[in-house]
Amino acid sequence: MVTELQLRLLPEETANEQALKLVAAREMGETAENIRAVRVLKRSIDARQRIIYVNVKLRVFINELPEESEYQSVEYKDVTDRKNVIVVGAGPGGLFAALRLIELGLRPIIVERGKDVRERKKDIALISREHKVNNESNYSFGEGGAGAYSDGKLYTRSKKRGSVDKILNVFCQFGASPSILADAHPHIGTDKLPRVIENIREQIKKCGGEVHFETRMDAFVMKGDEVVGIETNTGKTFFGPVILATGHSARDVYYYLHEKAIPIEAKGIAVGVRLEHPQELIDQIQYHRKEGRGKYLPAAEYSFVTQVNGRGVYSFCMCPGGFVVPAASGPKQVVVNGMSPSNRGSRWANSGMVVEIHPEDFPEFASYKELALIKFQEQLEEYCWQNGGMKQVAPAQRMADFIQKRNSFDLPVSSYTPGLLASPLHFWMPEFVTSRLREGLRYFGKVSNGFLTNEATMIGVETRTSSPVRIVRDRETYQHVTIKGLFPCGEGAGYAGGIVSAAIDGERCAEGVAMLIASH
Ligand code: FAD
Repeated sequence: MVTELQLRLLPEETANEQALKLVAAREMGETAENIRAVRVLKRSIDARQRIIYVNVKLRVFINELPEESEYQSVEYKDVTDRKNVIVVGAGPGGLFAALRLIELGLRPIIVERGKDVRERKKDIALISREHKVNNESNYSFGEGGAGAYSDGKLYTRSKKRGSVDKILNVFCQFGASPSILADAHPHIGTDKLPRVIENIREQIKKCGGEVHFETRMDAFVMKGDEVVGIETNTGKTFFGPVILATGHSARDVYYYLHEKAIPIEAKGIAVGVRLEHPQELIDQIQYHRKEGRGKYLPAAEYSFVTQVNGRGVYSFCMCPGGFVVPAASGPKQVVVNGMSPSNRGSRWANSGMVVEIHPEDFPEFASYKELALIKFQEQLEEYCWQNGGMKQVAPAQRMADFIQKRNSFDLPVSSYTPGLLASPLHFWMPEFVTSRLREGLRYFGKVSNGFLTNEATMIGVETRTSSPVRIVRDRETYQHVTIKGLFPCGEGAGYAGGIVSAAIDGERCAEGVAMLIASH
């Protein structure tokens, strides 16, 4: 017999499958031996009260074993002889576009400026060790895209549950733990995600697709107002409709579109800092107890949002048990971001603490028109680099000192391996941002006792929260509004804001290309 149970359990009762089997036996009035397997279908933590519960939905197998797999697989057929479609960028947008193209009977040719996900790791290590940033292989560029070395958080505000479930199932098919299907806040972890990405790439190649690393798209091949292919830095030209999934750090792509008068629009972003606390403190605050998370609860998360003088101030991409990382993608930049391993086991918790900005907030950049906030980002990242000593050392300030506009004379130990330098962020970051950040953080300290502390460090700067530009496309065909054969895709085009939403957008663009090809 197979049955389902909805239960509210103590954390220790959910420690592992054996513990859950005992709970199921108790609830069903069965002996433990008769419970042959349990599957967690949904899991979330309720830490609102002093006693913490885990809400679980279980599928219980009594006297029988599960027959079906924990996730649904997609069948990918051979597309060797099918029509070519070019996918620029191997981030989640590009990779899921390629997989969906194969499902639709089209042959993806992926062109990626960075290296494969393993080789890329070596360049990432050099950023911390030698302060060397390879312009083509870093935390933003390379196989897997910006999220390959990240926390691998897979939650999204997308309301399209069906599309989200499909993406999560595909991640499982390529090696992610099926627990991502059950967790309220699923994440893969930086130690596991690269393997999943490699498996996706191998599937694409096995089906007859092509993947070209260290190959940067430099220009479109145009026929009138239609993109019919791309030129690359290797001298190779590829022909076919183009899914442009180049992410929000490929500023050269925005400059190219602007120069060619291909319509793009300026859009708002959010900028600020990475805030790093001891994880133990966040556990104590969020689980409302001195002993913190104990043995059975995960590293605690938080999420804050408020409005200050007409602009949102919020925490962004929180990484429990994680590390702050150097996410620059070019010279004269210091940019920070965060990542966590799958066990979220480090001593630190970090998140972006950012303020929403609009292009009109900085009239001094207005002459750059659509590129205004790119210029703003570039300037702020360069200031940050200067204030860190012109290396990958990041300027930083204790949290309470920032609020009091005081210099920090020393800093807490940090997870940021290139090193920190005490610096008055309140002085050199834009007043528009710091004044709102100060008020926002004061408010977060009020609603969460202990959060505002001088044991937390603010690390400059977080500027790559989303795309400062939208590459405008038609709502139904996903094709660019004026250029045929061009499908702006994912975060860089302004249509996604994370791994899952970029993957969903990749699928959409593949469907748009299939519609175009079918109509010919
Ligand atoms: P990207 O992932 O940016 O991929 C674009 C790809 O295009 C890159 O590989 C780039 O090298 C390539 N490219 C660019 N220009 C060219 C060109 N001219 N020719 C060829 N190739 C080109 N999101 C989450 O949801 N959860 C997280 O936990 C999370 N953590 C993050 C941690 C870090 C450190 C970073 C940097 C980001 C994180 N994000 C996270 C954000 C997430 O990674 C992005 O939202 C997502 O990767 C966007 O996907 P994309 O495919 O649109 O673009």
